[in-house]
Amino acid sequence: MMSVGKGNILRNYSEIIQRLMAIDLPLIEIGRVHDYPIFQVRINSISDSHKSILITAGLHGDEPAGVEAALQFLERDNSSLLQKFSFDVIPCINPYGYIHNTRENREGIDINRSFEDDNIQESNIIKSALEHKHFSLAIDFHEDYDADGFYLYEGNRDEKYLGPKLVKAVQHLGPIANEEPEDDSIQISEGFYKVQKSWGTQGLTPHLLYYHSPHVFIFETPTNWNIHNRVNLHLSLLDNVLKLIKYLGH
Ligand SMILES: [Zn+2]
Repeated sequence: MMSVGKGNILRNYSEIIQRLMAIDLPLIEIGRVHDYPIFQVRINSISDSHKSILITAGLHGDEPAGVEAALQFLERDNSSLLQKFSFDVIPCINPYGYIHNTRENREGIDINRSFEDDNIQESNIIKSALEHKHFSLAIDFHEDYDADGFYLYEGNRDEKYLGPKLVKAVQHLGPIANEEPEDDSIQISEGFYKVQKSWGTQGLTPHLLYYHSPHVFIFETPTNWNIHNRVNLHLSLLDNVLKLIKYLGH
């Protein structure tokens, strides 16, 4: 085991930048924190009547499978999806945390509890990049150190939930988490929790649900699985949710 602490460099962010540069898609630098650029990638739909999807990852720097899943999504061929969808992808919200394997940013702030504050650089960058933008669906990739399996959160303004179907669709890829996560989560069905009103809008996903998207998800993979299986699970959840919403209203 490598000892993990502030200041230890564990991951190479320039590899992420190189992979993003190598993709033939519009790459926007939406901001910079401690000299690390934060990027957004736009994939346009080929249809005028499409649904806009937002995918975010790397908000917690010690949850690398989300970043890897976002990158692999950008690197693969999505042309059949582009008949129905456009995508905005922010693959690494917290580069400092990603490099140093910390949940928080360099200032020790959990960015996912900072969306009502005005002085947190990373959340300010996300808020201004998304200002006035509306999505049909927003998905934030996360991981859980204590979980013994995968699970997901869903928020939907119309209270119609796809969670149970989604969990079923991917459960052949690995076990569903047994224990409840350590917050005021309410389990609706196996592996499926609701984004709670009581969370307020400090977190990215509730912020998105309130201001930008009627329908949101947080996917959580257990960090004790190997990275390949975790990335696979994120991508499979993503593909299944797109299949399910293809013909839905919003
Ligand atoms: Zn997380």
